[in-house]
Amino acid sequence: MENVLVIGSAGQLGTELITALRAAHGDDHVVASDIRSASEVPLSQPYVQLNAMDKGSLEAVVDEYEITQIYHLAAILSAKGEENPQLAWDLNMTSLLNVLELGRTKIKKIFWPSSIAVFGPDTPRDRTPQSTLMNPSTVYGISKLAGERWCEYYHKNFGVDVRSLRYPGLIGYKSLPGGGTTDYAVDIYHKALQDQSFECFLGEDTLLPMMYMDDAVSGTLQLMNARPEDVHIRSSYNLAGMSFTPKEIYKSIQKHFPDFAITYAPDRRQAIADSWPNSIDDSLAKKDWGWQPKFDLQRMTDEIVKKLAQRIAKK
Ligand code: NAD
Repeated sequence: MENVLVIGSAGQLGTELITALRAAHGDDHVVASDIRSASEVPLSQPYVQLNAMDKGSLEAVVDEYEITQIYHLAAILSAKGEENPQLAWDLNMTSLLNVLELGRTKIKKIFWPSSIAVFGPDTPRDRTPQSTLMNPSTVYGISKLAGERWCEYYHKNFGVDVRSLRYPGLIGYKSLPGGGTTDYAVDIYHKALQDQSFECFLGEDTLLPMMYMDDAVSGTLQLMNARPEDVHIRSSYNLAGMSFTPKEIYKSIQKHFPDFAITYAPDRRQAIADSWPNSIDDSLAKKDWGWQPKFDLQRMTDEIVKKLAQRIAKK
């Protein structure tokens, strides 16, 4: 039996990954943890308040719960990272190295997410290949690219079984996003359901790779369940779901709410979005461990509109 620790579990991804992991391993075998206190976090037990930068406390939790796998999600994301680059670098690097070090001794398997932010302005834009020019221009992207190199290093030199995905912008309706450049694609649904207009912080034709949260969660579990010999990339796999612009997501929502209005007021996040790819070539994830996304834009919108309406009605 595996005992799993999720670090940064109160965030946008963690909130949903915890549910899937508890369904797979049993509630008692999946420990949720975040820097936020239990009273701030709606996650059920077991939950521990944990600062991922604190190596001693991390090791104590690993020992207490006899943890065998870690999903390390805590990070400062792209837009927030630019507000405090030093803190973003410190958190994103120190916490990863703390987890990788435990991979040398106590932890059998590690998941750590990278991002399309590893790519930069001189990366080929369309169907961006797995291996290409990177040169990220945000501290977030720099930290993710460095993290990818550390993951491969720990795998090659110390045999650590670390696995990683370069997620595109993740879109779910169960929690609010934490400060990324693709957050608009989550916020827009909440505004539509509240009968409002929406001001988008990216221009209408900004094409970006995105993914529905259900696909992200199942892809993550699929990679973690793959046989080690099938996981050929130990830096981080390209992963794709769909690509769309603000105008296209707006149109998909307008099918449900014909009067919903949108305006565009690009801010400093536009420059970050402009440095990222339009679409991603994820053929290696498909070939190595059978990745196949299920959601396109309209299917995602139909599902989110339906489920978010049910959630709002229950409140
Ligand atoms: P989020 O910001 O919603 O959640 C991050 C969580 O980490 C928060 O709950 C926060 O309280 C916690 N945290 C912050 N500092 C901490 C610390 N010192 N110790 C412990 N916990 C701490 O982020 P998310 O959207 O859930 O992203 C999860 C991971 O996926 C991140 O590594 C992110 O880089 C990656 N990712 C996310 C997206 C996306 O679109 N959301 C895209 C690509 C990659």
